Amino acid sequence: MATFVKDLYEILFNTFGNQYWWPVDTHYHLKQKSDPRFEIIIGAILTQNTAWTNVEKALENLKKNRAFTIPALLCIQEKTLRTLIQPSGFFNQKAQRLMFIASYLQKQYNGDLQEFFSQDTSDIHQELLSLQGIGPETADSILLYAGNHPVFVVDAYTKRICRRLPLSTTSDSYDDIQHFFEHELSSCIPEKERIPTYKEYHALLVRLAKQNCWKKKPSCDDCPLCTLCEKLL
Ligand code: SF4
Repeated sequence: MATFVKDLYEILFNTFGNQYWWPVDTHYHLKQKSDPRFEIIIGAILTQNTAWTNVEKALENLKKNRAFTIPALLCIQEKTLRTLIQPSGFFNQKAQRLMFIASYLQKQYNGDLQEFFSQDTSDIHQELLSLQGIGPETADSILLYAGNHPVFVVDAYTKRICRRLPLSTTSDSYDDIQHFFEHELSSCIPEKERIPTYKEYHALLVRLAKQNCWKKKPSCDDCPLCTLCEKLL
């Protein structure tokens, strides 16, 4: 099964190429001397239950208002923040969540993301889950893409693809699917390649789902995995 999971990755990578996740405006952060990891934290919250294209509009608004740092975000009135992130949907709830995590990181870590992310993976995971509005997918997206911690992110796209491919996991649970990928990849990917592979793999599964596999009736004819998947169709 490890070979299958690796083959799947290679087919997706050879078909779609590098997805360059998580997308951050590195140039902007260099110019502003701000920490791009906070933009990833913001994006991970804003993308809850919404398409990334909507999140991009909200991020653009925040960028224009120079709200990509913890102190800057905390200086914005919640009402203004709601307006800025409106394109991402659920803006009342998300404004509260952004304020909460910014204020938490400021109080607990003096806004120092290096200190926050230098803790053990499982400690950060538990800490994030204890915060308002942060579930496993958001926590792991933050851990992997902002913190460079080796956790495989599972989302609705991953779950759907897993249900359709002949994988040895039939569970629909977040933890089981995560464990399955992490376990299978651990035997065929060197440790130093684990984090970049997890980052790319998740992004490639999202790409595949959006392009071929999300709808109730998937577009299998032009799917790069059709030869691996045909047993189930
Ligand atoms: S072959 Fe069809 S069901 Fe299988 S992954 Fe591709 S789109 Fe989904």
